[in-house]
Amino acid sequence: MIKSGRKWSNWSGIVKARPRTVIYPSHVEEVVEAVKQCCREGRSLRVLGSGHSFTAIAASNDVLLSLDRMQGILEVNNEALTATVWAGTKLKTLGELLHAEGLAQENLGDIDVQSIAGAISTGTHGTGLQFGNIATQVVGITVVTGTGDVLDCTERSHPDLFKMLQISLGALGVIVKVTLRLRRSYKLSYESSRVPLTACLEQLSSLASEHRNFELYWFPYAEPCQLKIMNETEEPITERKISSYMSDVILENGVFGMLSSMCRMVPRLSASVSRLCAAVVPTSRKIEQSHRIYATKRLVRFNEMEYNLPVEAMEVVIREMRDRMAQEKYNVHFPVECRFAKGDNIWLSPAYGRDSAYIAVHMYRGMPHEKYFADMERIFLKYGGRPHWGKLHTLKAEQLRAAYPKWDSFNEMREKLDPNGIFLSPYLRSVFIH
Ligand SMILES: Cc1cc2nc3c(=O)[nH]c(=O)nc-3n(C[C@H](O)[C@H](O)[C@H](O)COP(=O)(O)OP(=O)(O)OC[C@H]3O[C@@H](n4cnc5c(N)ncnc54)[C@H](O)[C@@H]3O)c2cc1C
Repeated sequence: MIKSGRKWSNWSGIVKARPRTVIYPSHVEEVVEAVKQCCREGRSLRVLGSGHSFTAIAASNDVLLSLDRMQGILEVNNEALTATVWAGTKLKTLGELLHAEGLAQENLGDIDVQSIAGAISTGTHGTGLQFGNIATQVVGITVVTGTGDVLDCTERSHPDLFKMLQISLGALGVIVKVTLRLRRSYKLSYESSRVPLTACLEQLSSLASEHRNFELYWFPYAEPCQLKIMNETEEPITERKISSYMSDVILENGVFGMLSSMCRMVPRLSASVSRLCAAVVPTSRKIEQSHRIYATKRLVRFNEMEYNLPVEAMEVVIREMRDRMAQEKYNVHFPVECRFAKGDNIWLSPAYGRDSAYIAVHMYRGMPHEKYFADMERIFLKYGGRPHWGKLHTLKAEQLRAAYPKWDSFNEMREKLDPNGIFLSPYLRSVFIH
C-alpha cells in the first residue's frame, strides 16, 4: 500500500513521484467525493492501476487514487456472456473469478498483474490477427467524470463517448466499472520453438494467419529466434511438475537475471549474451486453461518501447531494425518482441483503422536505452508507427494529433468532461496540449 507523502515508482523504476495524498476508495460515492474535492481545492488527480506503465502516465505528485479496494465481479450474464466487474480488478484474479463462472476473456497480453481499467486505458493487447486489444472486449463503462458526474456508457447509449472511454489514458475520468464481452472457458496449447529468423520472416504472414496466437522473439545479433504459438484444443491439461516450474520460472528468470547483471557491468558482453540466449531458446509444449497460459512471470526488470504499425510493415521493419543494429552495435541483449492484432474503431487506439503489427524493444533496467530506442523509434515512425500508450516514446501533442484522425474530437470532449483539468498531469499535458 502506498502512503501519502512517500516515494512511489513504476514497475521498471524509471518513473518516480511523491503523491501528497493517496486515496483508496471502497465505493463509487467516495470516488465522486474525491473528484469534487480536487475541483474545489484546485488539485490534480491520477488514477493508479498496478503501476506497470513505463511512462509517467499514472504518476502523480498530488492526489493518487487507487481502486485496489474496488475489485471483483459485480454481475454475470450467462446468456449474453458478459460480466460487469469493478475497474480495479487485477487480470489474474479476474481470470480465476470468470473461470469459476465457466467464462473467459478471448485474448490477453503476456502478464496478468495489471488492473482491468489500467489495461484498457492504455490499449494493452496480446497477439493474434483475429483479436483486437483488450479494450475491444469492453461493452460497458461506468465513469466518474472530472465534474463528479457518474455516467453509465455503452456504444448504444453514448456512441462517441464510449469509443473515447475504451482507451482514454485516464484523461476523461475515473472508470469505476467495466462490462466485458466474454466467451465460454477454453483451453490453449502453447508451443515454443527455435527457428532461424530468416526462415521465419519468409513465412511471417502464414504463421500469423494460420495460428490463433503467434508471437516472435528475436535476439539482437543472433539468427535463431523463438516462436510462440497458441491454438485452441480439447486435449487434457498438461500436468505441472515442480521441475518444470523450476525451469520455467526460476531458471529462465534467474539465469537471465544473472546474465543481465553481467551485461550491465560489462556492456560489451551484450551481443554474446544475446546469441547465447537465442541458442538455448526452449522447445516445449503445454496445455492449460486460457487465462493461465497467456501470462509469464517477469522477474527481470526492464524498460520498453513498443509501436503499433500497419500489419504489412512487420517484415520490412524487422529487416531495417536488424541492419541498424548491425551498424550501430548497441549494447542490448533483450529480445525484440513481435506481435499482431486486429484493427478497431476506438478513437485513440494505436490499432485504429488498421490490422496491426506490434514491435517492442527492451533494455535491462539500469542500462542506457536512449540511443537504441531513439533509432528504433525513427524506423517505426517512418512506417507510420503509433506508440503504445503505456510504453516509452518521445512523441508530443502535435505528432500524436497527426497520427489520429479523431484526435481533436477526443480533446474537445476531454475538456468538456474535465473542465478544471484535474486529470491533466504534466505527462498528459505533453500528450494533449504541448
Ligand atoms: C512486464 C510488463 C509486461 C507488459 N506486457 C504487456 C503486453 O503483453 N501487452 C501490452 O499491450 N502491454 C503490456 N504491458 C504494458 C501494460 O499492460 C500497460 O502499461 C497497462 O496500462 C498497465 O496497467 P496498470 O494497471 O499497471 O495501469 P497503470 O500503469 O497504473 O495506469 C495506466 C493508465 O491507466 C489509467 N487508469 C488506471 N486505472 C484507471 C481507472 N480506474 N480509471 C481511469 N484510468 C485508469 C492510469 O491513470 C494511467 O493513465 C506490460 C508492462 C510490463 C511492465
